[in-house]
Amino acid sequence: MLYFIDVPRRNFNSFRDSLLWQYATLAMADIAVSREDVEYGRLHYAVRSSLYAKFIGGDMQPRPLAVEEKLKLRLPACCAYCGGSKHLSIDHLIPLHRGGEDCGENYVLACRRCNSSKGCKDVVQWLAERGELPTIFLYRRYLKLCLEYARQQGLLELPLDQLPDNMPFAVESTMIHYGPPNRIKHWVVPCGNEPSDSEK
Ligand SMILES: [Zn+2]
Repeated sequence: MLYFIDVPRRNFNSFRDSLLWQYATLAMADIAVSREDVEYGRLHYAVRSSLYAKFIGGDMQPRPLAVEEKLKLRLPACCAYCGGSKHLSIDHLIPLHRGGEDCGENYVLACRRCNSSKGCKDVVQWLAERGELPTIFLYRRYLKLCLEYARQQGLLELPLDQLPDNMPFAVESTMIHYGPPNRIKHWVVPCGNEPSDSEK
């Protein structure tokens, strides 16, 4: 079974630093996928390092979840996991039973089959069981939800080994090896005009 955990990585001082590193990794992947690069190279790693430094230094921060909500309205209505368009219902990306919130930012559309197969599993782990990586748009929402949860719970400054066990998401899922870029898509179905950089 493929599981894409990328450990050991770096020695992060806090969960915040680890999440921001992964967010910078996601931005790197976004660029690579947009350019149709088949693997990461020096340019991509330089972009990630630069972004990460800006996040850590406070010069930049991930854009709010509202950006993902705007994007959701523009994407084709389909299952966020398989792209199917039949028997769609609302799924909680971070399951309610694990402590995910019952709010719009945590809603995605899912077909009946994916919804019942995913159940209460962490979405990244569930996809990994199927040999899949989350799409860029899905993973960006997921990471932002994790960041927001950690912020609300006061967990951001904790070292990774002091995080509680009962988190609504798998901490390992915020550390996956996200690539190679030719295995990643922006979204489950082609979505025409990609949003501009300012909307990410
Ligand atoms: Zn589906």
